[in-house]
Amino acid sequence: MPMKFNRRNFIKNTTLISLGGIILPHNIYSNMKKGNLPKAGLKLSFEPYNLQLKHVFTLANSSRSTTPVMLTKIEFEGITGFGEASMPPYLGESQESATRFLSALNLQQFTDPFRMDEILEYVDLSASGNTAAKASVDIALHDLVGKIMGQPWYKIWGLSAEKTPVTSFTIGIDTSEVVKQKVKEAAGFKILKVKLGRETDKEMIETIRMVSDVPLCVDVNQGWKDKKEALDMIFWLKEKGVEYVEQPMPKESKDEIAWLTQNSPLPLIADEAVQRLTDVQATIGVYSGINIKLMKCTGMREAHKMMNLARANKMKVMIGCMTETSCAISAAAQLSPLATWADLDGNLLISNDRYAGVKIVDGKITLNDLPGIGIGIL
Ligand code: MG
Repeated sequence: MPMKFNRRNFIKNTTLISLGGIILPHNIYSNMKKGNLPKAGLKLSFEPYNLQLKHVFTLANSSRSTTPVMLTKIEFEGITGFGEASMPPYLGESQESATRFLSALNLQQFTDPFRMDEILEYVDLSASGNTAAKASVDIALHDLVGKIMGQPWYKIWGLSAEKTPVTSFTIGIDTSEVVKQKVKEAAGFKILKVKLGRETDKEMIETIRMVSDVPLCVDVNQGWKDKKEALDMIFWLKEKGVEYVEQPMPKESKDEIAWLTQNSPLPLIADEAVQRLTDVQATIGVYSGINIKLMKCTGMREAHKMMNLARANKMKVMIGCMTETSCAISAAAQLSPLATWADLDGNLLISNDRYAGVKIVDGKITLNDLPGIGIGIL
Protein backbone atom coordinates (compact mmCIF):
# COMPACT_ATOMS: atom_id res chain seq x y z
CA MET A 1 0.00 0.00 0.00
CA PRO A 2 1.68 3.31 -0.99
CA MET A 3 1.97 5.81 1.86
CA LYS A 4 -0.62 8.54 1.54
CA PHE A 5 1.05 11.89 0.96
CA ASN A 6 0.51 14.39 3.71
CA ARG A 7 2.58 17.20 5.06
CA ARG A 8 3.41 15.41 8.32
CA ASN A 9 4.77 12.29 6.52
CA PHE A 10 6.65 14.44 4.05
CA ILE A 11 8.42 16.37 6.81
CA LYS A 12 9.05 13.20 8.86
CA ASN A 13 10.66 11.35 5.93
CA THR A 14 12.58 14.14 4.25
CA THR A 15 15.60 16.06 5.37
CA LEU A 16 14.84 19.63 4.40
CA ILE A 17 17.44 22.17 3.38
CA SER A 18 16.74 25.88 3.35
CA LEU A 19 18.16 27.58 0.28
CA GLY A 20 17.69 31.33 0.00
CA GLY A 21 14.39 31.10 1.81
CA ILE A 22 13.18 28.14 -0.35
CA ILE A 23 12.86 24.84 1.50
CA LEU A 24 14.10 21.87 -0.54
CA PRO A 25 14.30 18.14 0.21
CA HIS A 26 17.88 17.03 0.86
CA ASN A 27 18.23 14.75 -2.21
CA ILE A 28 17.19 17.52 -4.61
CA TYR A 29 19.55 19.95 -2.92
CA SER A 30 22.54 17.59 -3.21
CA ASN A 31 21.77 16.98 -6.90
CA MET A 32 21.64 20.73 -7.45
CA LYS A 33 25.02 21.10 -5.77
CA LYS A 34 26.42 18.58 -8.28
CA GLY A 35 24.85 20.57 -11.09
CA ASN A 36 22.34 17.80 -11.87
CA LEU A 37 18.81 19.02 -11.58
CA PRO A 38 16.71 15.88 -11.21
CA LYS A 39 14.78 15.21 -14.42
CA ALA A 40 11.74 12.99 -14.66
CA GLY A 41 12.14 9.98 -16.94
CA LEU A 42 9.85 8.70 -19.69
CA LYS A 43 6.44 7.63 -18.41
CA LEU A 44 4.94 4.63 -20.19
CA SER A 45 1.27 3.72 -19.82
CA PHE A 46 -0.95 1.28 -21.75
CA GLU A 47 -4.57 0.24 -22.23
CA PRO A 48 -6.03 -2.91 -23.85
CA TYR A 49 -8.55 -2.26 -26.63
CA ASN A 50 -10.51 -4.53 -29.00
CA LEU A 51 -10.88 -3.62 -32.66
CA GLN A 52 -14.23 -4.48 -34.24
CA LEU A 53 -13.85 -5.65 -37.84
CA LYS A 54 -16.43 -4.46 -40.37
CA HIS A 55 -16.43 -7.89 -42.09
CA VAL A 56 -15.45 -11.32 -40.77
CA PHE A 57 -11.83 -11.76 -41.87
CA THR A 58 -10.94 -15.11 -43.45
CA LEU A 59 -7.34 -16.28 -44.04
CA ALA A 60 -6.17 -19.62 -45.45
CA ASN A 61 -6.59 -21.31 -42.02
CA SER A 62 -8.82 -19.13 -39.82
CA SER A 63 -11.55 -16.45 -39.50
CA ARG A 64 -12.29 -13.79 -36.89
CA SER A 65 -14.33 -10.60 -36.28
CA THR A 66 -12.20 -8.79 -33.64
CA THR A 67 -8.50 -8.06 -33.13
CA PRO A 68 -7.03 -7.42 -29.66
CA VAL A 69 -4.65 -4.44 -29.47
CA MET A 70 -2.77 -2.52 -26.78
CA LEU A 71 -2.72 1.27 -26.98
CA THR A 72 0.38 2.83 -25.41
CA LYS A 73 1.49 6.32 -24.40
CA ILE A 74 4.88 7.73 -23.49
CA GLU A 75 4.77 11.06 -21.66
CA PHE A 76 7.72 13.39 -21.21
CA GLU A 77 7.71 16.99 -20.03
CA GLY A 78 4.05 17.48 -20.89
CA ILE A 79 4.26 15.94 -24.39
CA THR A 80 2.59 12.60 -25.18
CA GLY A 81 3.59 10.11 -27.86
CA PHE A 82 1.08 7.42 -28.91
CA GLY A 83 1.77 3.83 -29.89
CA GLU A 84 -0.04 0.56 -30.56
CA ALA A 85 0.48 -3.20 -30.57
CA SER A 86 -1.86 -5.20 -32.81
CA MET A 87 -2.01 -8.87 -31.85
CA PRO A 88 -3.99 -11.15 -34.17
CA PRO A 89 -4.14 -14.45 -32.22
CA TYR A 90 -2.27 -16.59 -34.80
CA LEU A 91 0.92 -14.58 -34.15
CA GLY A 92 1.10 -15.68 -30.50
CA GLU A 93 0.91 -12.37 -28.60
CA SER A 94 -2.07 -11.28 -26.52
CA GLN A 95 -3.19 -8.46 -24.25
CA GLU A 96 -2.00 -10.61 -21.34
CA SER A 97 1.48 -11.15 -22.78
CA ALA A 98 1.76 -7.46 -23.73
CA THR A 99 0.68 -6.43 -20.21
CA ARG A 100 3.38 -8.66 -18.73
CA PHE A 101 6.00 -7.33 -21.12
CA LEU A 102 5.15 -3.62 -20.76
CA SER A 103 4.72 -3.80 -16.95
CA ALA A 104 8.25 -5.13 -16.60
CA LEU A 105 9.81 -2.17 -18.48
CA ASN A 106 11.33 0.72 -16.58
CA LEU A 107 11.42 3.68 -18.96
CA GLN A 108 11.66 6.10 -16.01
CA GLN A 109 15.41 5.46 -16.07
CA PHE A 110 15.64 7.33 -19.41
CA THR A 111 15.58 11.13 -19.11
CA ASP A 112 16.51 11.89 -22.76
CA PRO A 113 13.99 10.58 -25.33
CA PHE A 114 16.43 11.37 -28.17
CA ARG A 115 18.60 8.41 -27.10
CA MET A 116 16.31 6.17 -29.15
CA ASP A 117 18.97 3.55 -29.88
CA GLU A 118 19.72 3.07 -26.21
CA ILE A 119 16.05 3.05 -25.16
CA LEU A 120 14.87 0.67 -27.89
CA GLU A 121 17.83 -1.66 -27.39
CA TYR A 122 16.88 -1.90 -23.71
CA VAL A 123 13.26 -2.66 -24.71
CA ASP A 124 14.32 -5.29 -27.25
CA LEU A 125 16.75 -7.05 -24.91
CA SER A 126 14.34 -7.05 -21.96
CA ALA A 127 12.65 -10.24 -23.31
CA SER A 128 12.66 -12.28 -26.52
CA GLY A 129 9.67 -12.27 -28.90
CA ASN A 130 6.90 -9.78 -27.99
CA THR A 131 7.51 -7.96 -31.29
CA ALA A 132 4.13 -6.18 -31.34
CA ALA A 133 4.49 -5.06 -27.71
CA LYS A 134 7.98 -3.78 -28.56
CA ALA A 135 6.56 -1.95 -31.59
CA SER A 136 4.01 -0.22 -29.34
CA VAL A 137 6.89 1.34 -27.38
CA ASP A 138 8.88 2.16 -30.53
CA ILE A 139 5.91 3.91 -32.17
CA ALA A 140 5.07 5.94 -29.04
CA LEU A 141 8.73 6.98 -28.71
CA HIS A 142 8.89 8.04 -32.38
CA ASP A 143 5.67 10.01 -31.96
CA LEU A 144 7.06 11.70 -28.85
CA VAL A 145 10.44 12.58 -30.39
CA GLY A 146 8.84 13.83 -33.62
CA LYS A 147 6.51 16.03 -31.56
CA ILE A 148 9.45 17.44 -29.56
CA MET A 149 11.20 18.20 -32.87
CA GLY A 150 7.97 19.57 -34.34
CA GLN A 151 8.33 17.44 -37.51
CA PRO A 152 6.75 14.31 -39.00
CA TRP A 153 9.06 11.32 -39.31
CA TYR A 154 9.00 11.16 -43.12
CA LYS A 155 10.63 14.62 -43.09
CA ILE A 156 13.11 13.72 -40.34
CA TRP A 157 14.15 10.77 -42.54
CA GLY A 158 14.46 13.04 -45.57
CA LEU A 159 11.68 11.36 -47.58
CA SER A 160 9.31 12.97 -50.08
CA ALA A 161 5.58 12.95 -49.41
CA GLU A 162 4.80 12.66 -53.17
CA LYS A 163 6.64 9.32 -53.33
CA THR A 164 4.12 7.43 -51.24
CA PRO A 165 2.70 4.41 -53.09
CA VAL A 166 -0.93 3.54 -53.63
CA THR A 167 -2.22 1.11 -51.04
CA SER A 168 -3.92 -2.16 -51.78
CA PHE A 169 -7.24 -2.93 -50.12
CA THR A 170 -7.84 -6.52 -49.01
CA ILE A 171 -10.85 -8.47 -50.24
CA GLY A 172 -11.32 -11.36 -47.80
CA ILE A 173 -12.41 -14.84 -48.87
CA ASP A 174 -16.22 -15.00 -48.89
CA THR A 175 -19.24 -16.07 -50.93
CA SER A 176 -19.39 -14.89 -54.53
CA GLU A 177 -22.11 -12.31 -53.79
CA VAL A 178 -20.27 -10.82 -50.80
CA VAL A 179 -16.97 -10.70 -52.73
CA LYS A 180 -18.64 -8.80 -55.59
CA GLN A 181 -20.19 -6.38 -53.09
CA LYS A 182 -16.83 -5.80 -51.34
CA VAL A 183 -15.11 -5.15 -54.69
CA LYS A 184 -17.76 -2.57 -55.61
CA GLU A 185 -17.33 -0.86 -52.21
CA ALA A 186 -13.56 -0.71 -52.86
CA ALA A 187 -13.98 1.27 -56.10
CA GLY A 188 -11.61 4.07 -54.94
CA PHE A 189 -8.59 1.75 -54.66
CA LYS A 190 -6.05 1.36 -57.46
CA ILE A 191 -5.03 -2.17 -56.49
CA LEU A 192 -6.92 -4.89 -54.61
CA LYS A 193 -5.32 -7.63 -52.54
CA VAL A 194 -6.85 -11.08 -52.63
CA LYS A 195 -6.18 -13.82 -50.11
CA LEU A 196 -5.62 -17.13 -51.92
CA GLY A 197 -4.33 -20.56 -50.91
CA ARG A 198 -7.54 -22.60 -51.06
CA GLU A 199 -9.25 -24.91 -53.54
CA THR A 200 -11.37 -21.99 -54.76
CA ASP A 201 -8.50 -19.69 -55.84
CA LYS A 202 -9.43 -19.39 -59.53
CA GLU A 203 -13.12 -18.97 -58.70
CA MET A 204 -12.25 -16.07 -56.38
CA ILE A 205 -10.28 -14.25 -59.11
CA GLU A 206 -12.98 -14.92 -61.75
CA THR A 207 -15.62 -13.53 -59.37
CA ILE A 208 -13.68 -10.28 -58.95
CA ARG A 209 -13.12 -10.02 -62.71
CA MET A 210 -16.91 -10.15 -63.25
CA VAL A 211 -17.22 -6.74 -61.55
CA SER A 212 -13.82 -5.01 -61.85
CA ASP A 213 -10.66 -4.82 -64.00
CA VAL A 214 -8.57 -3.04 -61.32
CA PRO A 215 -5.01 -4.46 -60.90
CA LEU A 216 -4.74 -7.20 -58.25
CA CYS A 217 -2.07 -8.60 -55.96
CA VAL A 218 -2.46 -11.92 -54.22
CA ASP A 219 -1.38 -13.19 -50.80
CA VAL A 220 -1.20 -16.96 -50.60
CA ASN A 221 -0.14 -17.03 -46.90
CA GLN A 222 2.05 -20.14 -47.60
CA GLY A 223 -1.00 -21.96 -48.97
CA TRP A 224 0.43 -23.59 -52.15
CA LYS A 225 2.34 -26.84 -51.65
CA ASP A 226 3.63 -27.84 -55.12
CA LYS A 227 6.07 -25.56 -56.97
CA LYS A 228 4.98 -26.60 -60.49
CA GLU A 229 1.29 -26.10 -59.74
CA ALA A 230 2.25 -22.80 -58.12
CA LEU A 231 4.08 -21.70 -61.27
CA ASP A 232 1.11 -22.63 -63.51
CA MET A 233 -1.12 -20.65 -61.19
CA ILE A 234 1.20 -17.62 -61.28
CA PHE A 235 1.15 -17.61 -65.13
CA TRP A 236 -2.64 -17.80 -65.01
CA LEU A 237 -2.78 -14.95 -62.45
CA LYS A 238 -0.55 -12.76 -64.62
CA GLU A 239 -3.08 -13.16 -67.46
CA LYS A 240 -5.76 -12.01 -65.02
CA GLY A 241 -3.96 -8.74 -64.21
CA VAL A 242 -2.18 -9.73 -60.99
CA GLU A 243 0.97 -7.65 -60.25
CA TYR A 244 2.74 -9.65 -57.52
CA VAL A 245 2.37 -12.69 -55.27
CA GLU A 246 2.99 -12.71 -51.53
CA GLN A 247 4.36 -15.79 -49.72
CA PRO A 248 3.29 -18.41 -52.31
CA MET A 249 4.61 -21.45 -50.44
CA PRO A 250 5.59 -22.39 -46.85
CA LYS A 251 8.54 -20.30 -45.67
CA GLU A 252 10.57 -23.48 -45.04
CA SER A 253 10.42 -24.37 -48.78
CA LYS A 254 13.35 -22.09 -49.62
CA ASP A 255 14.70 -24.06 -52.59
CA GLU A 256 11.25 -24.39 -54.18
CA ILE A 257 10.59 -20.68 -53.70
CA ALA A 258 13.99 -19.74 -55.18
CA TRP A 259 13.14 -21.88 -58.23
CA LEU A 260 9.71 -20.30 -58.43
CA THR A 261 11.19 -16.77 -58.27
CA GLN A 262 13.62 -17.60 -61.10
CA ASN A 263 10.82 -18.86 -63.32
CA SER A 264 7.98 -16.61 -62.26
CA PRO A 265 6.68 -13.86 -64.55
CA LEU A 266 5.57 -11.97 -61.40
CA PRO A 267 7.60 -10.71 -58.40
CA LEU A 268 7.32 -12.98 -55.34
CA ILE A 269 7.34 -11.25 -51.96
CA ALA A 270 8.40 -12.77 -48.63
CA ASP A 271 6.02 -12.14 -45.74
CA GLU A 272 5.92 -15.00 -43.22
CA ALA A 273 9.58 -15.72 -44.15
CA VAL A 274 10.85 -12.35 -42.95
CA GLN A 275 10.28 -10.79 -39.57
CA ARG A 276 13.28 -8.79 -38.44
CA LEU A 277 16.44 -7.17 -39.79
CA THR A 278 18.41 -10.39 -39.29
CA ASP A 279 16.01 -12.27 -41.63
CA VAL A 280 16.51 -9.99 -44.65
CA GLN A 281 19.84 -11.45 -45.75
CA ALA A 282 18.35 -14.95 -46.14
CA THR A 283 15.66 -13.72 -48.55
CA ILE A 284 18.17 -12.24 -51.04
CA GLY A 285 18.21 -14.47 -54.13
CA VAL A 286 15.17 -16.41 -52.88
CA TYR A 287 12.41 -13.81 -53.23
CA SER A 288 12.06 -10.64 -55.34
CA GLY A 289 11.16 -8.54 -52.33
CA ILE A 290 10.06 -8.42 -48.71
CA ASN A 291 6.93 -7.34 -46.86
CA ILE A 292 7.81 -5.35 -43.74
CA LYS A 293 5.32 -4.95 -40.91
CA LEU A 294 5.92 -2.89 -37.79
CA MET A 295 4.28 -5.56 -35.59
CA LYS A 296 6.69 -8.24 -36.84
CA CYS A 297 9.90 -6.22 -36.76
CA THR A 298 9.52 -4.29 -33.42
CA GLY A 299 8.68 -0.95 -34.98
CA MET A 300 9.67 2.01 -37.12
CA ARG A 301 13.36 2.11 -36.26
CA GLU A 302 14.06 -1.48 -37.34
CA ALA A 303 11.66 -1.23 -40.31
CA HIS A 304 13.66 1.73 -41.61
CA LYS A 305 16.88 -0.29 -41.40
CA MET A 306 15.26 -3.28 -43.15
CA MET A 307 13.98 -1.12 -45.98
CA ASN A 308 17.40 0.37 -46.57
CA LEU A 309 19.10 -3.04 -46.47
CA ALA A 310 16.59 -4.56 -48.91
CA ARG A 311 16.81 -1.61 -51.31
CA ALA A 312 20.62 -1.70 -51.22
CA ASN A 313 20.33 -5.34 -52.40
CA LYS A 314 17.95 -4.43 -55.25
CA MET A 315 15.04 -6.10 -53.49
CA LYS A 316 11.53 -4.70 -53.79
CA VAL A 317 10.02 -3.42 -50.58
CA MET A 318 6.45 -3.65 -49.47
CA ILE A 319 5.07 -2.20 -46.24
CA GLY A 320 2.13 -4.05 -44.74
CA CYS A 321 0.05 -4.12 -41.59
CA MET A 322 -2.30 -6.08 -39.35
CA THR A 323 -5.78 -4.80 -38.49
CA GLU A 324 -4.71 -1.70 -36.59
CA THR A 325 -6.02 1.73 -35.65
CA SER A 326 -4.83 4.82 -37.53
CA CYS A 327 -2.02 5.04 -34.94
CA ALA A 328 0.11 2.12 -36.18
CA ILE A 329 -1.02 2.66 -39.79
CA SER A 330 0.11 6.30 -39.74
CA ALA A 331 3.43 5.22 -38.20
CA ALA A 332 4.00 2.76 -41.07
CA ALA A 333 2.91 5.39 -43.60
CA GLN A 334 5.83 7.62 -42.53
CA LEU A 335 8.10 4.96 -44.09
CA SER A 336 5.97 4.34 -47.16
CA PRO A 337 7.92 6.65 -49.56
CA LEU A 338 10.63 3.94 -49.38
CA ALA A 339 8.23 1.18 -50.49
CA THR A 340 7.34 -0.06 -53.98
CA TRP A 341 3.98 -1.25 -52.70
CA ALA A 342 1.94 -0.65 -49.59
CA ASP A 343 -0.77 -2.65 -47.96
CA LEU A 344 -1.87 -0.18 -45.29
CA ASP A 345 -5.61 -0.72 -45.15
CA GLY A 346 -5.85 -2.13 -41.57
CA ASN A 347 -7.58 0.96 -40.16
CA LEU A 348 -10.15 0.92 -42.97
CA LEU A 349 -11.25 -2.60 -41.97
CA ILE A 350 -12.34 -1.57 -38.44
CA SER A 351 -15.41 0.30 -37.17
CA ASN A 352 -14.01 1.73 -33.89
CA ASP A 353 -10.81 3.65 -34.72
CA ARG A 354 -9.50 5.85 -31.89
CA TYR A 355 -7.29 8.15 -33.98
CA ALA A 356 -7.33 10.17 -37.21
CA GLY A 357 -4.12 10.13 -39.23
CA VAL A 358 -2.90 9.34 -42.71
CA LYS A 359 -5.61 9.43 -45.39
CA ILE A 360 -6.07 7.48 -48.58
CA VAL A 361 -6.82 9.87 -51.44
CA ASP A 362 -7.55 8.29 -54.85
CA GLY A 363 -6.06 5.07 -53.51
CA LYS A 364 -2.76 6.78 -52.63
CA ILE A 365 -1.30 7.13 -49.12
CA THR A 366 -1.46 10.83 -48.30
CA LEU A 367 0.74 12.06 -45.45
CA ASN A 368 -0.12 15.12 -43.36
CA ASP A 369 2.27 17.60 -41.74
CA LEU A 370 1.41 16.81 -38.12
CA PRO A 371 4.59 16.13 -36.11
CA GLY A 372 5.59 12.64 -34.97
CA ILE A 373 3.56 9.88 -36.61
CA GLY A 374 0.91 12.35 -37.80
CA ILE A 375 -2.17 11.50 -35.73
CA GLY A 376 -4.84 13.22 -33.65
CA ILE A 377 -7.20 11.61 -31.14
CA LEU A 378 -10.83 11.06 -32.20
MG1 MG B 1 0.87 -11.60 -46.10
